[in-house]
Amino acid sequence: MNRSKRIISLAIFLIFFSQIFSISSIQGDSSQASEVYGYPDYSQIENALFQLNSSYSSICALHAIGKTYEGRTIWALKISDNPNVDEDDEPDILIMGEHHAKELISAVIPLMFAESLVHNYSSNPEVREYVDSNEVWVVPVVNPDGYEYAVQGHLDWRKNRRPVDVNGDGVPDGVGVDLNRNYAHHWGEQGVSHDPQSDIYCGPAPFSENETRAIRNLVLSHHFVFSVSFHSYGQIIYYPWGNSIDPPPMDRSLMEAIAKQMSGYNLYRVMEGKETYSTTGDSDDWLYANTSCLPFTIELGKEFVPPPQYINEIFMKNDGALLYLLSISHNPYLALSTDKTNLRIDSFDVNSGNASIIVENQGNYSVSAYVNISAGDARNTTKILLAPHEKEALNMGISCPSCRIYNASIASVHGAQEWNISDNSAVFFVYPPSEDVHNAHYTIYALAAFGLIVLLSTVAYLFKKHKLH
Ligand SMILES: [Zn+2]
Repeated sequence: MNRSKRIISLAIFLIFFSQIFSISSIQGDSSQASEVYGYPDYSQIENALFQLNSSYSSICALHAIGKTYEGRTIWALKISDNPNVDEDDEPDILIMGEHHAKELISAVIPLMFAESLVHNYSSNPEVREYVDSNEVWVVPVVNPDGYEYAVQGHLDWRKNRRPVDVNGDGVPDGVGVDLNRNYAHHWGEQGVSHDPQSDIYCGPAPFSENETRAIRNLVLSHHFVFSVSFHSYGQIIYYPWGNSIDPPPMDRSLMEAIAKQMSGYNLYRVMEGKETYSTTGDSDDWLYANTSCLPFTIELGKEFVPPPQYINEIFMKNDGALLYLLSISHNPYLALSTDKTNLRIDSFDVNSGNASIIVENQGNYSVSAYVNISAGDARNTTKILLAPHEKEALNMGISCPSCRIYNASIASVHGAQEWNISDNSAVFFVYPPSEDVHNAHYTIYALAAFGLIVLLSTVAYLFKKHKLH
């Protein structure tokens, strides 16, 4: 990167970071800023966590849950009322990011979720209720050494940074373990490598790594109902199993229903982990096999490191999915409820190439849907996302100057077990403007006058002809 590009990148990064984390001044030397513009380095993520913890101490408690090979701390931010008390009647929910180094977005989204929970706590009653009734644990970076290595420019790196000496001769045989292959369930059996040079090296033994042990110890000391492990990329929500050794999971239909509900917010595809490729040793399989947690992996976005201008959109989609989990944590079976969506077009109006449509969600589930407008050969489609009982006003451009009939419809709905569309189509007639009507009248008068002249001439001709004979 040349100097001017660097300055522009740094400026974009500072704007992004100060907006997201509401930090008015960033401490430290700017030369330590990230090499990957738009993404904070690890010390800046730590500073954001420290800031949240100190500014919102009534609902935050920051825990150091482990140390990496290079000496960095793995942090877990607990967000709840009475954050320093382990309240047994409140479900624990674990949000993790960044098992894999180059998947930088997977660290930023959990951090933004933590930030949004504490910022909206006092102003948004729904968020307040979720925070008060749950214990939310956010581990934005499971793999701090890998994150820092990637963010400093090594965007092909996936594993942690620990040199591994397999045969004990004092010479490392490779660097790094794939942390999402290092958990203990069927460790080392499928979709892994035992070669320390490989990107998917599962480590010398299950839980050989500080990072996976840190997660294991956190998990075993609480009662997690749900966990979400963020990765990138693919726009997919996975539920167990990741391996193809175990028989179908007992809670398959429940996990699938929950994942489908979440997909109503982010519009991601829903799959059992092994459907893409079988692996063993990932966090979800271990969590599901060894605890009562229902674990999900969400593959964010369309690339490992989306350009910073997409971060907010990715967050907005997944924020809804996470809040949904908090809303059903006391009774996950709510996801199997048959409550209907009841999406309808509330009003529809067309004005000079622009259609105004109000769509209302009358149901108790958030849903996403496609709204279509058509007139003649012209059509336009918009995707919307509606919270329960929310109305949204859409302005959709459509150009068909000669059209008189416009049709708006709701095409397909995602996000609810059962859904029902009432009033899914509306028709709008455009009447000709009054000047046209005026001109049209003259045309009719002119045609009528011409017709009358022709008629009279014919009659006169026939009369004259008749008379002559
Ligand atoms: Zn990953």
